[in-house]
Formats: sequence, structure tokens, C-alpha cells
Amino acid sequence: MACARCEGTGWRPVEQDGIRRVERCSCWQQTAATRALEAARVPPRYARCDLDSFILYPNERLQAAVARARRFIEAFPAVTKGLCLIGPPGIGKTHIAVSVLRAVILEKGARGLFYDVRDLLRIIRSTYNPVVRTAEMDVLRPVMEADLLVLDDLGAEKPSEWVEETMNLIVNTRYNERRPTIFTTNYEDSPDETRLDSLCVRVGFRMHSRLHEMCEFLEYDGGDFRMLPANGGADDLEMLWKRGRARRGLPPRTHGPAKAELGPQHVRAQAPPLRELRWPGGKAGRGV
Ligand SMILES: [Zn+2]
Repeated sequence: MACARCEGTGWRPVEQDGIRRVERCSCWQQTAATRALEAARVPPRYARCDLDSFILYPNERLQAAVARARRFIEAFPAVTKGLCLIGPPGIGKTHIAVSVLRAVILEKGARGLFYDVRDLLRIIRSTYNPVVRTAEMDVLRPVMEADLLVLDDLGAEKPSEWVEETMNLIVNTRYNERRPTIFTTNYEDSPDETRLDSLCVRVGFRMHSRLHEMCEFLEYDGGDFRMLPANGGADDLEMLWKRGRARRGLPPRTHGPAKAELGPQHVRAQAPPLRELRWPGGKAGRGV
């Protein structure tokens, strides 16, 4: 329904000292924020996420992660690092990431963008078109230029050279231009970098070392929200968390020793400058 104050034009007539002029109607600000939210591509199931509705329970690392997310929102855009939320599925990592994204869009007027990493790679692949060679840049440009980007579920895609190059291109471009990114991932940042399910192996050494340079790591465990009954609350989540830990036999986090000698391919290299990335383009991703 059209706004009664401006009849839907977004401009409101005002008269001052006998001079008539127009100014932006308050409905326009509202619409602009709504549009910016729509443009951010947040999936409908996360469309209402905010930190106030996030169920907290006595879980120190979770509480610290949420507190850090709040500080990020307050400081934005004066933030030097992004965030990397790490932990098992279902513990609210995407909820926290989207809450931050929505808050900086609504409160700070930022251009925000959300992508599930697998969706993003699928879209880049599908844009390859031998006639319109620029199509993939139409997808990549907003990803590289968003004031805040959320990349959800990092490491879930099957690792390949093309995946690694494409992700490095995106992440390095944002890093070089000092644009923060928030990542979520189910893969533990294990000190044992030979483990197949470690973050490092899933995303590659270059990306892994870049992540550490550009993000604060917020690793936590918690109750699985997907197991929470409809009327469940903090107590239920705490119970789910403790039960889950018990079931997993409380795996002690191994630090340090007993690591096998690493071959030369495991020596961490500095990420090369962008021009040396030689990103093969969307083509190479076809049918991979
Ligand atoms: Zn209006």
C-alpha cells in the first residue's frame, strides 16, 4: 500500500517560509533498508536472525563468540579483521553471522552480501558463457565489493584446484581492499594439518594462512538447535550440548606433539599477489 504521507513517491512536500520544496519521506529510508536486506541474499530461514533472539546458555566460548559479534557490529565499519565461526553443524554459527550482516545493513547502511560457498561456486560455474565472457564478473564483482560478505559453510565443497583458485581470488581481493568477511565452517582448525577433516586440508594452505591473517577465529561447541523442541529454551540447549559431548566421548583437543614430519608441500607459503593467481575463470569449474 502506498505511503499516505508521500503517496508512495518517497518525496514529501514541505513548506518553509512560504517556499515549497520536497524532502525524503521516512518511508523511503525504511524501503531502502528493506531493499538492501533483500539484495543481501539472506536465505528466508535466516531472514529474521538477530543477536537478541539468539538463545544463550552457560557456554563460555559461545558467549564469547556472541559478545565478539556484538563488538564487531558496534565498531563497523572501523573493523580491521573479519570473523571465522568454527564448530559442528547446528550450533548457530550462521545465525550469528547473519545477525551481524543484518545489523550492519540496517544500522550502518552497509552493502552486505550472503553466500553459501557451494551456491556461490555453482553460480560462478553456471555463468560461464563462451559468448559473454564477462558474465562471471557480474557475480564476482558484488562478492568482492560488498562492505561485508558472509561466506557460509566454508570447506563443504569438494576441494579442487579450481575451487581453491576461485576462493583465493575472492578472499585475497577482499583482503587487499580491506573489506571484512565473516566465514562459518564445520571444519576444526586442527593443529594437525595432515588430518583430512581439518580446515587447512579442506580449504588449502594458502587460504588457511590468509584466514588467520584476516579473521579472528571464534571456535566453539554447543547444543544442536535443530534438535531443540519447538518450545525449548536455554536449559534444553545446555542439555543437548552436554549430551552431545558425552556421546562424542569428550574428544580432548590435541595440541602440538606427535606430528609427523611434514613434506615440502606442507610448508606454508605466503599467498602470492593477485596478478599471479592466474585464476582460470569459470570455465575450469565446468563439470569438475
Ligand atoms: Zn512516504
